[in-house]
Amino acid sequence: MSINFSTATFKDFENIPNYNIAQRAEYFYDFLDYMRSNGHMNYRLKNTTGTNATLHVDIANQNKEYVSFVSSDYLGFTQHPKVKQAAIEGIQKYGTGTGATPLIGGYFDYHDKLERKISNFFGRNDDEAVVFTTGYTANSATLQCLMQKEDLAILDMAVHASVYEGCAFTNKKTFPHNNLEGLEHILKTSENLYRTKLVIIDGVYSQDGDTSHMNEIYNLVKKYNAFLMVDDVHGIGILGETGRGTIEQAGLLNKVDIMTGTFSKTFGNLGGYVIADKKLATFLKFQSRQQIFSATAPPSSAGIIKAIDLIDEEPVWRERLWNNINYFKKGLDELGLDTGISCSAIVPVKIGDPHVTGDVGRLLIEKGIYTNPILYPAVARKDARIRMSVTARHEREHLDKTLNAFEDINNKLHIAKK
Ligand code: PMP
Repeated sequence: MSINFSTATFKDFENIPNYNIAQRAEYFYDFLDYMRSNGHMNYRLKNTTGTNATLHVDIANQNKEYVSFVSSDYLGFTQHPKVKQAAIEGIQKYGTGTGATPLIGGYFDYHDKLERKISNFFGRNDDEAVVFTTGYTANSATLQCLMQKEDLAILDMAVHASVYEGCAFTNKKTFPHNNLEGLEHILKTSENLYRTKLVIIDGVYSQDGDTSHMNEIYNLVKKYNAFLMVDDVHGIGILGETGRGTIEQAGLLNKVDIMTGTFSKTFGNLGGYVIADKKLATFLKFQSRQQIFSATAPPSSAGIIKAIDLIDEEPVWRERLWNNINYFKKGLDELGLDTGISCSAIVPVKIGDPHVTGDVGRLLIEKGIYTNPILYPAVARKDARIRMSVTARHEREHLDKTLNAFEDINNKLHIAKK
């Protein structure tokens, strides 16, 4: 099988028949060279200054300043002095690492404090949270631990890759995104066939920035005696009256069976968590392979404990974020660009054609704006888009500069849909 580099995506390199790993790697290496030499290399760029609204990115050995829309540091907490101070104090008190996995001695008093804090943040009891190494493992490890070959995982098609990975060893069915008939059909036709039926959805979907139809899904889950797991990594700190995310918005904070999230976005750090009733949480602490065989949350995670407090103590960051989101989306809309059904800090400009999308990404870079062009397999082949995350740290001048750049690009490439 030969690969057409001009239409290839990363995915095409997964299943090249009769190629051993070295040959696949060689082919892929040539593909990257092709991408670079054609100006389409807009990922894995070297960021040299951190997660600010403007940052320095090293492109072709030119370290220039860009307005950035690639960070999910939504409230800007990675740069908050109190969060930084708490992280530093964590390191000073405990050192830089845990030295062991949680089950065999790598569970410190700050892990316990963090678990109580995040659990209480959602109005739950002290013992209803488990901290994982990342948001990715919070999903994949929980599902691997809970779901076996006698069980059925029912996924909204658009859930995160970590959920798919967690379901590798169980039965899995998917329903079209937010499609209630599709979900009900699966629930109805699988009644009594499986030990556990677990429906898994995201609170906010990471490519369109839209939210789940959580209340309707919850009602179906109850009707068919199933369980519900919600990954709300892009909703926490942003949506809901007090920033508790889409589950608060839906009025289901104490009703969803398993809630998962990350500390790498709103909370400005690294790590993931699972909230579930105390027996399920305890089961995960002792039975999940990641808790047994993998270290978690280094001492700088003490910064997360402060960040959780700041959601309530400094609501100004959420207000700033929403002012920015509303201003930016209105500007894009006035240019006739298609931001789809986003209702969060993730703002796509939907273009469709992958080549035009690559060109838009490149032109934005040329104009000093760093975004992510999103192509297949992250989205369908004809649904390519520029994906941007708005944060509380963006200033009006950053948003205006970006809107002007889109206006220029639209004059050239005619990407407006309206
Ligand atoms: N779930 C969703 C919906 C995500 O978008 C992401 C990160 N892109 C994750 C989970 C994983 O989070 P982390 O980066 O903390 O592993």
